[in-house]
Amino acid sequence: MTATAPSGPAGGPLVVRTPGKLRRALADAGRVALVPTMGALHGGHRTLMRLAGEHADTVVVSVFVNPLQFGPDEDFDRYPRDLPGDTALCGEEGVDVVFAPETATMYPLPQMVTVDAGTMGERLEGASRPGHFTGVLTVVAKLFNLVRPDTAVFGAKDAQQIALVRRMVADLDLPVEIIGAPTLRDPDGLASSSRNVYLSDAQRASALALSRALRAGADAASGGAAAVREAAWSVLDEAVKGTPPVEPDYLALVDPATFADAAADHRGAAVLAVAARVGTTRLIDNVSVNLQGA
Ligand code: AMP
Repeated sequence: MTATAPSGPAGGPLVVRTPGKLRRALADAGRVALVPTMGALHGGHRTLMRLAGEHADTVVVSVFVNPLQFGPDEDFDRYPRDLPGDTALCGEEGVDVVFAPETATMYPLPQMVTVDAGTMGERLEGASRPGHFTGVLTVVAKLFNLVRPDTAVFGAKDAQQIALVRRMVADLDLPVEIIGAPTLRDPDGLASSSRNVYLSDAQRASALALSRALRAGADAASGGAAAVREAAWSVLDEAVKGTPPVEPDYLALVDPATFADAAADHRGAAVLAVAARVGTTRLIDNVSVNLQGA
C-alpha cells in the first residue's frame, strides 16, 4: 500500500477542526508524525516539523492552547493566537495536516479522568505551576489517541515536559516513539518562545541573563555539581539587581530521569534548568551538562 499524505487547498496543509475530519484525513496517511504545539509558531517549532518530516510520510501539527495546563492566574486568555499565520508557517515547512480543535471539542465535559504526573510532575515547573503537568500529560494522551501517530516530536526547551512524556509512554505502554529536538535560540542566545513577544526591548536584554547563566554553569561542569550551581547563580544574582530585574523562580541542577536535585557527587548527564519572571512574562530555559569530578 502506498501512503497518500493529505493536503489542503493550493497544496498547503489541510486544516481540520474535528476528530472525525482528522480520522478521514489520516485514513491512508502511512507513517504519521505528530508535533503538538500551542500555536504562535516560531523557528523552534520549525525544527520539530523538519525532524518529524524525516521520520514519517505524513506530518500533523496540532495547534491547541490547552486550558487544562494553565493555572487560574496564568496567561491562558492573553496567550498569542494566530491560526492563519500558523497555517502559513506549516505550509512553508511541508506540514500535511494542521489539527486545530476548539476547546469544547477537546473538552466536551469537565475533565474528570486525568493523567497524574507523579512526583516528577511536582518538581521545578510542577512546584511553580501546580497541576501543570497533569494538564500537559492529559492533553498529550488525548492527542495521541485522536491522531494515533507512530512518532511524536517534542522540544528539549521544555526538558521536564519531554522527560514526563517519555515516562508516560513507558509507564502506560503507549505505542508512540518520542523524538527530542534541540532548543533553538535567537541570535542573542534567548531561547525562542511564543512568550518572547510579551517582552519589551529592555526586558529582553535582562532576560538574556537566563541563557548566560546556563552557559556559565555548563562551562563549569568539569568542577562538579557545586561549581555548576555557583557559576550559574553568580550570573543570575547580578540580573536580579538589574533594570528591569530578573525574578528567578528556580535555578536547579537535576537528574535528567527524575528531575530531583543532582547530588553533590553526581557524575555524568544532568540538566541545569531555570525559570524566571521578567516583568509579567515567565520564561524557562535549560541546558544539558555532563558533570565531571570536583
Ligand atoms: P509550545 O507551543 O510552546 O507548547 O511548544 C510546542 C513544542 O515546541 C514543545 O515540544 C516545545 O518544547 C517545542 N519548542 C518550543 N520552543 C522551542 C525552541 N526554542 N526550540 C525547540 N523546541 C521548542
